[in-house]
Amino acid sequence: MSRARLVASVCAVLLAAGCALGSATPSPTSPPTASVRVSPSVPPTTAAPITTPHTTSHAAPAPVIVIDPGHSRTVDATDPRTGLVVSDYENEPEMRDVFAVAELVREQLRADGYRVVMTKMRLDQPRNLAQRAAIANAAHAALALSIHDQAGPNGGIGFADGNNIVYYQRVGDYRQTPSGHKIVFTNSRVAALSKRYARIFASARRKAQGVPITVQGDTGYDLGSRGLAAGDIWTVQLLSHIPWIYNEAGGNSTGRSGLSSADEHTYADGLVAAVERCVPIR
Ligand SMILES: [Zn+2]
Repeated sequence: MSRARLVASVCAVLLAAGCALGSATPSPTSPPTASVRVSPSVPPTTAAPITTPHTTSHAAPAPVIVIDPGHSRTVDATDPRTGLVVSDYENEPEMRDVFAVAELVREQLRADGYRVVMTKMRLDQPRNLAQRAAIANAAHAALALSIHDQAGPNGGIGFADGNNIVYYQRVGDYRQTPSGHKIVFTNSRVAALSKRYARIFASARRKAQGVPITVQGDTGYDLGSRGLAAGDIWTVQLLSHIPWIYNEAGGNSTGRSGLSSADEHTYADGLVAAVERCVPIR
């Protein structure tokens, strides 16, 4: 097994290991329920009665989109809320390339008028998986997207050759803590949106990249089979209270290890088109 392949699988595992939002957590963004934790951009309805029925505030604030560039300087961490391992590690050239893609996506979305939040502000910023999910939850984002690829001289996959996958959140997906406690994804509202968005991402990426894109509601295998925390969902997705689309792609452009600028733009273009369709700006 090549190092790159090993790294990729570890990466997957690490991601999966981190975030599970157990049933304890209140549900997501949408209709601000009575829960306090997620204070949306719109004041909770428990607040004082409306004063001006039909007057002002027609211009809703632009949607918040969270962009999650994969990987980090190595960090070892456990999520105190769930007990899940939420460590992450550096993986090159993937980390560098997907950060560049994330910056392209950010620029285009901002030009569209979206409010954009990055889970990492700098390429080398340490970030564990729970922190990434927490950033999206706190931002009351309409949608989050992770960006990954499979790059490297050994075990890397050509950008046009495979590993083009879009993962969504599905009820029943889980990760397991070191003590064997399962943290299960239970939010059916978010799961439904996530699945709908995943199909849109696949369509938009297929159009931009010109290759088939697979849609999956879980990782497709038990991550425990690789000696990591058991389960079948990426940790950031599990810990998220919002729809979170996790993107994988081939990572080597023709004749090189890592992505060319042209392929970074292609990857970004598909992601931007997907966001524009999932969460249109009115
Ligand atoms: Zn990765």
